[in-house]
Amino acid sequence: MSVAAEMRRGWCPSVARPMPTGDGLLVRLSLPADSLPPALLHAIASCARRFGNGLVDLTRRGNLQLRGLSEVTMPGLIEALSSFEGVASPHEAESLRDVMMSPLSGLDPKAICDVRPIVRALREKLAGEASLRALPAKFCFTVDDGGDFGLDQIAADIRFKARRESSDIFFMVALGGCEGEARGIGGCAPSSVPEIAVALARTFLNLRGASKDAPRRMAELLKRTEIETLSRSVGLLSLSSHRSDIVEGAASPGLREPGPPITMIYRREEDPASIGIAVPFGQLTADQLDDIANQTEAFGGEVRLTPWRTIFVANRSAIKAVNTDYRLENSGLITREPDPRLNIAACPGKPACARSTVLTRENARMLGSVAQGLRLSSPGGVIGLHVSGCAKGCARSAVTKATLVGRDGRYDLVIDGVAHDPPVREGLTLEEAKIALEQIVEAMWAERGEP
Ligand code: SF4
Repeated sequence: MSVAAEMRRGWCPSVARPMPTGDGLLVRLSLPADSLPPALLHAIASCARRFGNGLVDLTRRGNLQLRGLSEVTMPGLIEALSSFEGVASPHEAESLRDVMMSPLSGLDPKAICDVRPIVRALREKLAGEASLRALPAKFCFTVDDGGDFGLDQIAADIRFKARRESSDIFFMVALGGCEGEARGIGGCAPSSVPEIAVALARTFLNLRGASKDAPRRMAELLKRTEIETLSRSVGLLSLSSHRSDIVEGAASPGLREPGPPITMIYRREEDPASIGIAVPFGQLTADQLDDIANQTEAFGGEVRLTPWRTIFVANRSAIKAVNTDYRLENSGLITREPDPRLNIAACPGKPACARSTVLTRENARMLGSVAQGLRLSSPGGVIGLHVSGCAKGCARSAVTKATLVGRDGRYDLVIDGVAHDPPVREGLTLEEAKIALEQIVEAMWAERGEP
């Protein structure tokens, strides 16, 4: 299969299979799903400088990617990674699939249980089972602790969500999509989560078949398979044995909250505190990663990555956390709202991606003020403007109030749609695009009767 065809079919870059991009090879690291100690962050920053171009991406699944590598530097990176504790080897990473957990699990007082041991056990099982290498690269799992930072709006193939009934804790199991779309198939004990997750993944592989058009995601499989076939295959308890108000075959509707706050989270000053930090356009420099590691190290904390492309610096006292907050803001990171950079999604664009003819992120910075206005009428909540290097729309798949799509060095404008939708205006310069966006904001205020 050609590189282009493989990318179309959902290739995820890994150490074993780096992806060629406009600024060199791109590699996604297979990091521990729960927390990252400062020493590991320093080591990753050093690798980004020595083997790549010093840039580190935060992905929408809570992973880190190194950019700007080459055939010459890859062997050095692989050797360096092999000495990092908790980083999967290229061999293990081939069968590991993303397991996303509530990012503050173990620290969130509202959580029903700490899911970190469950997630570790699940990743061990995945890494150890060679047959699961056949799972499509984007196949993924969520394990939600039922607390304040839930994963309801994160799409996944196999979902687990903690529930409590009297003193009994169990996990609801649902398949395909985000919480509002996924179909519930039963409940299980916390200790059974890893086993059931792997058994469902095996069943998916058996049922999808090997044809060219075999489903690549659980939601696709459910369009052609009875859901009972999946629940029976893993012997799940009937949903009705846990909750009489849950209908089998339909997960509870989930809220689409905007993600974790960019602020400090604590209950009392002497309690552990967590600081939510956002990274402009989801990209860090190696120096910023070192700054985060230094500040985390100073107070014995740890870092948690989130599927919202933000970071929590967790587990320190609130008083000490205030100092960290100011220092990280000076590093160019976003530590408080509002910030116009929070209202724009932008892919790497030119020159990092060979498909782009526009400087997406540089241009996006110049559109910050108008993006704040657009955000107020955006159906997606926080993001009001999407600046995309091409119609693929990698930075955002949700409907957005305004999307600028790069083409031949100019922009097409899509309203209330996604990057591949038909544009309402074509071939705009950046200046013309800005004026068009300002007009949309003005019309919006006029409609509301505000000046
Ligand atoms: S959307 Fe951006 S990153 Fe994705 S392929 Fe197009 S130019 Fe490249």
